[in-house]
Order: sequence, then C-alpha cells, then structure tokens
Amino acid sequence: MRALVVTAPNEFAVEDVQRPRPGHFEVLCKVRAVAICGTDPHIIEGDYPGFWPKAWPLIPGHEWCGEIVEVGEGAAALGWEPGTRVAGTSHAACGYCRRCVEGRYNICENFGVDGLHAQYGHNADGAYAEYVVHSVKSVFAVPDSISDEEAAMLDPTAIALHTVIRGGHRAGDTVAVVGPGVMGLLVAECAHALGAGRVIVVGRGQRLAKASALGHETVDVEAGDPVAAIRGLTGAGGADVALECSGAAEAVAQCVGMVRKGGRVAVIGIPFEDARVPMQRLVLDEIDVVGVRAAAGEMPRAIQLVASGRLRLRELITHRFGLEDFGDAYATFTERRDGALKVVVRP
Ligand SMILES: [Zn+2]
Ligand SMILES: [Zn+2]
Repeated sequence: MRALVVTAPNEFAVEDVQRPRPGHFEVLCKVRAVAICGTDPHIIEGDYPGFWPKAWPLIPGHEWCGEIVEVGEGAAALGWEPGTRVAGTSHAACGYCRRCVEGRYNICENFGVDGLHAQYGHNADGAYAEYVVHSVKSVFAVPDSISDEEAAMLDPTAIALHTVIRGGHRAGDTVAVVGPGVMGLLVAECAHALGAGRVIVVGRGQRLAKASALGHETVDVEAGDPVAAIRGLTGAGGADVALECSGAAEAVAQCVGMVRKGGRVAVIGIPFEDARVPMQRLVLDEIDVVGVRAAAGEMPRAIQLVASGRLRLRELITHRFGLEDFGDAYATFTERRDGALKVVVRP
C-alpha cells in the first residue's frame, strides 16, 4: 500500500510499504480521509524525543475516517464487521491499570508500553496510508449523516468536548476561549453546544475573524490587553471559565487573569516553554487550573452532537489534497497558506 513514511526528523516521503494485518481485537480499515492535526508537525519534526515518536520510521496520522475491510480474531464476536464506516481516535490504552479502570484511559499508566498501549500516529503507525490497523477500542461507527471529512475531525472534536467538560462551566456561564486555531474553534463550538451563555474567543487575524463569522464574541489581542478586555466585557470580575487552546506560554497566566474569583481554567494547549502561573491569584481567589489530555470517552457524544448539527465541522475545512501530494498539504497547513485551518488528505 501507499503510505506517508517519516524516516527521520522532517524527512518523509509517500512510498510503498507492507499492508498491515489486524491482530486480536483489531480491525483493518481502508482510509477515506485524514485531517492534519496541529500535533502532526511536532511528531514529524521529532519535537518530543523519547516520547513521540518512540522510533523511526513512523506513519503518522490520527484523525481519520475509513471503512473496515478485515476483522482480526475476536473482533467479529464483539460485533465488528467489514463494511462499517468508522472514525478513529489515537489512544488504545491498556484497559487494566487503575486509570483505565476508572475510565481515564487518556492517562493510562502504561502509556507507550509495548503490547499494552498504543497511540496511533504518535508511537504506533497511523492513518496517512491506504490502510490502517486499529484496536476496536479506538474506532467508532459513524452515521451516514456525517461525511468522511467531518468524520475525520471527530477525534479533535472529542478532545474539544473533553476540554469543555474539564472546564466545567454551567448553563448560562461565560466561557473565554484563548487561541482560535482549529482546536479553539472546536472548543468554542462545544462550549456553545453545552449551554454556555456567552462564548468569547481571544486571538488575532484571520482565525479570530473566523470565530466571529461563526457567531462567537471576540477579543483581538492586537487591540490591547486581552485580560482587561475580558474583564471589561464580562463586568463581573471575569469569565466563569477560560479554556487555553493556544499553547502559548503566556496564555495560561492570561487565562488565570481572565476568570472571576473561584473561576476555572482548563489547558489543552501544550506550552513548549515553562508557563508561568500566577500562584498568588490562584491561591487567594481559589482559581482551579486543570490539564486536558486528549479525550476519555467523549467520542460517542461528539458523534451525536455533529450528527444533530449542533457542532459545525464543515466550516473549518479549508483545503483538500491527495496522499501523494502530502508535501503540499503539509506546507499549506504549517505555513497557514490561504487561511488554512483544517487540511484534509485523501489516500
Ligand atoms: Zn489530533
Ligand atoms: Zn491503562
């Protein structure tokens, strides 16, 4: 089969490789669409030594939709059969450790341990290929009302939903979303779908304009201090919840500044430098700051929210390429050519 193979940091090509075979409780899927994720450039550049990826070569890609073409031993008994259209997620956790048993498989204690845990496209081969093998733990049947391209975005949508749930706003609350990349825009959609009274997106440029076009309130960081802007707009000492989606080191402190006393901050952006957290404010005003890693069980609900039209994914897809043109697709995504948001690759 044809697949995108990364052989060293930033060295990749689409080439012929052996088609994988499904093992116990696994399925082989013919890939229909893969979405480029903001994490992919870090994986391809080898930015997380010893973590993502564990070794080269690697086939990345973890946001995808495809069709089951072969089931491994045990999978049929669980109801999986060829012909089922599925969306993939990246975490196939051990299922045995304490965290998995309590449902938090995204923080599996056996992360990356061979034979126990795989994160497809990160430390195990992923979906930039004609075929991909996944554990049945990490594929979800999708209804016909969701297109292949939208289904390829269900993984980040589930993560956005997990982010909003970790933020813990209540119906009617004001939610600030920092960073209007695809994740921030998905988070804004999910906050709205989960009953936020106001959703205020903080950012700049074309991406902030997109947030505005989607109907969210906006704060332009180039127009002044975003913390003062949020406090001014909310008039009650700040937003109830702030959701950090930019990964910028200064953004966590800004989020802590944006929420009211007793407010809550959830962080999905991974800061590359040490992020300063204003501990005095955090302690004295009882601000909760929580981390967010991937998703933990949100896929079925994300699918329903998309199927029912309450999350708009199609609006975020800006470019489409064939797998053979991955180089162009990748440059379009990383250089944000022509206002690129979600770039979809089709094998
Ligand atoms: Zn992703
Ligand atoms: Zn586990």
